[in-house]
Amino acid sequence: MKRLIFLGPPGAGKGTQAKILAEFLQIPHISTGDILRHAIQEKTDLGIQAQAYMDKGELVPDKLVEDMVEERLKKSDAKSGWILDGFPRKVTQAEFLAKLLENLGQGGEKVVNLDAPDETVVSRLLGRGRKDDTKEVIRRRLEVYRDDTAPLINYYSQREKLLTVNGNQSQEEVFTALQNIIAT
Ligand code: AMP
Repeated sequence: MKRLIFLGPPGAGKGTQAKILAEFLQIPHISTGDILRHAIQEKTDLGIQAQAYMDKGELVPDKLVEDMVEERLKKSDAKSGWILDGFPRKVTQAEFLAKLLENLGQGGEKVVNLDAPDETVVSRLLGRGRKDDTKEVIRRRLEVYRDDTAPLINYYSQREKLLTVNGNQSQEEVFTALQNIIAT
């Protein structure tokens, strides 16, 4: 049984690695960013509400993402494990998740902190070409990461859930490091 939360700055390779690892472990890859982008494409209420925040590099209000994650984790395929990518992004979301997992009887989660220096993440993001990957929005997303998300490193470290992987290496090397660390 594997329950993993991927943490790290935008551009650290979280999405790519989470996807590969989830396939390898045969568990769902749950990316809040992917779910939101899909909702925008489909023009659902959620998508319409989330779009303005995402376009600016701001976080979408907690309630929207929390409801989304709760609904997803209640699906039957999430019983055998999951990788959460992009959630939680704030201490309030982490507290929500802790309660939710307790209610669902889904404990024992570990947090993988995929770390990479600013130069690396900025050049990766600029090369990616997503709609919210313009210079100004990237700057804001990094700020939001530093202010709201980075405190989760401490939060999970204090709860002895944190595993750290150096994201500043090739995709293969990161994947090998991930496999080693989750086997421990
Ligand atoms: P990502 O694909 O994880 O980089 O997420 C893209 C955008 O979706 C972020 O910049 C936020 O606007 C929004 N988003 C994704 N996950 C969350 C979350 N847990 N809380 C708030 N906003 C989120």
